[in-house]
Amino acid sequence: MQLEQLSEDVYYLASAVNCAIVKTSAKNAVLIDTGQDKNYGRNIRKALDSLGLKAIAIINSHSHADHYGGNDYLLRQYNAKVYAPEFEAAIIQNPYLEPVYIFNGAKPLKELTSKWLMAKASPVEYILQEGKLIIDDFEFEIIDTCGHAHKHFSVLVDGVLIAADAVFGNEVFDKYPMPFGQDIAKQIKSAKKLLDYDYKIILPGHGKPTTEIKALVERNVAVFNSVTRVIEDSCNGGTSEDVLEQTCNKLNVQLADIPRYYLNLCTIQAYLSYLRETGKIELSLIDNRLSWQKI
Ligand SMILES: [Zn+2]
Repeated sequence: MQLEQLSEDVYYLASAVNCAIVKTSAKNAVLIDTGQDKNYGRNIRKALDSLGLKAIAIINSHSHADHYGGNDYLLRQYNAKVYAPEFEAAIIQNPYLEPVYIFNGAKPLKELTSKWLMAKASPVEYILQEGKLIIDDFEFEIIDTCGHAHKHFSVLVDGVLIAADAVFGNEVFDKYPMPFGQDIAKQIKSAKKLLDYDYKIILPGHGKPTTEIKALVERNVAVFNSVTRVIEDSCNGGTSEDVLEQTCNKLNVQLADIPRYYLNLCTIQAYLSYLRETGKIELSLIDNRLSWQKI
């Protein structure tokens, strides 16, 4: 993991999940997301040591395991307070909820309880609210960017928008033509909202930072809209699983394992909810079988 500087006070560790370090004073730092696990935690610790800083707070953008999995290790190293969105805070404190919701509320398959989908629990001291947040006399602007997760916040600080998963880096779409989302109407609205603020560089949670902010947001919105159309066209009487299979075939997605199957099924159901709410598809229950149909 490489430590990169984005502005005078903002650094990030470039990896599969980007974690930001904000220098709030000569000795203190606030972390934004902590990566997947202990290994991320250790690398963040090393980066802080190299900058001569200690963590006094962690802001978690949302509760997906790859964004707060380093909390447990870091909270053993530092006396830091954790900030997280409401709802997501419940999951960060009770990580078993993530595989449980991925598996329709039932006892999850063991494949769904790896650290990829279930991080170590972390306490949460403060619930994030949209607007200004002062920590260590340093100002952060907290922006409501729900949709990728039910509650999700981005952070604007020192000319850098730390977007977490409100948008994805261009590189991500080559690998994942249908990125994860839980509330698609909000996901599209939140991506567009990022253009309402003034900043120089955007750091997505996955992929590279860029100064081409408008192009990145437009690419994200275009992908969400084209996935919506593919899913709508895949509603020809089948179940959610049938829609998933058809959509993956059309997008050339090969679901490599059971966790990916269920994560993508969750995304498909988010799009089906969105399409039904906007009157594009209908759902019927015939002979004990659900059927999604384009209108
Ligand atoms: Zn996420």
